[in-house]
Amino acid sequence: MKLKYFLPDWEDRLDPNFDFVNDEYSEEHKKNPYENDVYAHQIFKEPPYDGILFSLSVFQSKISLNGDGVHYKIRNQTNIKNYLKIPEELSLVVMGDCGAFGYVKEKEPPPFYTVENVSNLYEKLGFDYGVSVDHLVVDYIFVRDKKTGKRKKKILSKREKNRRIKITIKNAKKFLKLHRENKYSFIPVGVAQGYDLETYKSSVKALVDMGYEYIGIGGLVQYTTDFILEVLQEIQPFVDGLNVHLFGISRPNHLKDFETLGVTSFDSASFFRKAWLRSGQNYLAPNGKWYTAIRVPQATDPRVLKNADLNGFSVEELKKMEREALSALIKYERGEIDIDDVLNIVLRYDKLLLRNTDGRNLEEKYRRTLEDKPWETCNCDICKDIGIHVVIFRGSNRNKRRGFHNIWTFKEIKKRM
Ligand SMILES: [Zn+2]
Repeated sequence: MKLKYFLPDWEDRLDPNFDFVNDEYSEEHKKNPYENDVYAHQIFKEPPYDGILFSLSVFQSKISLNGDGVHYKIRNQTNIKNYLKIPEELSLVVMGDCGAFGYVKEKEPPPFYTVENVSNLYEKLGFDYGVSVDHLVVDYIFVRDKKTGKRKKKILSKREKNRRIKITIKNAKKFLKLHRENKYSFIPVGVAQGYDLETYKSSVKALVDMGYEYIGIGGLVQYTTDFILEVLQEIQPFVDGLNVHLFGISRPNHLKDFETLGVTSFDSASFFRKAWLRSGQNYLAPNGKWYTAIRVPQATDPRVLKNADLNGFSVEELKKMEREALSALIKYERGEIDIDDVLNIVLRYDKLLLRNTDGRNLEEKYRRTLEDKPWETCNCDICKDIGIHVVIFRGSNRNKRRGFHNIWTFKEIKKRM
């Protein structure tokens, strides 16, 4: 499958020298987390994605004009690839977009997101692709009630939706004009917004007529796969031979259909984030099966302390149970303890702490994870390096590593499609 996969970046780095036995950050991390910590593309021999999607709204506070008044900097770096620690020899590309979800409540994209500023910023920071400035079309937004100060749902009228589509198209036109006049070197991507087949079609057609060769389709997250497929069918005649990106969409069972209908790239963080969502699908095995990660929360977590207190356990008792759970899992990996014993120890701590819906049927799920030992058959650098720790649901160093493993596995599965 040629379909290119972009990972949206939310500063997902981890400590490469984290001490799993003592459960401690490295000294280097403590001194300077940004300098020390690494991205997924620094861990695996082959990066688990083709590119990174970098949303300006996520990083707005970190971007500033350099002292010379011409260049931009982001955390003292003047090039996005240096900031993301992408080694020169890697063919990893970076796509910039505004991250319009960051200002969905506003009437217009805020002053930071003028077409001039955004296009200039993409160029100066050395992005490979730059996405035009859009305004999201959604069914409703949350706003503060002026009188009560409470958050309330506001339905967007058709008129408002059309106004947002118009802003998006107008900005795309200006974006391409500036790109041409200034001879920018990044590849411009025009975003299409819409709310039904007709509006998506006319947005895409307008962008193609302007001269865009890369079209991004936004706002599709809220729709069913059937609707997405219909939109793709509808726009197919216009985008033949061009590149098409789907924003924020994974739908792993339909990637082949998307590709057949002309999609060339997409981005999604869902495989990464599933690692620590409470769905029970936390670890993706190379055969495509999902496993539940085994929760061993930190005893110092305020929620954990509160629950334990309610159940009449002291902090010391709690810490002891936590240590025992961790060490039982490590022993299990070494074959020094059998599955029923490790489950008993883990669940004793677990049951005490997680009394909500999260706690249901965990025993069965944990047993399956421990019995199958999926990390033993995974060839990724993370599983080979940390073993059973990859399936322990605890702290960002284990959880993010499991997330990175998931995207690596996803890319392997995608290769076979
Ligand atoms: Zn792995």
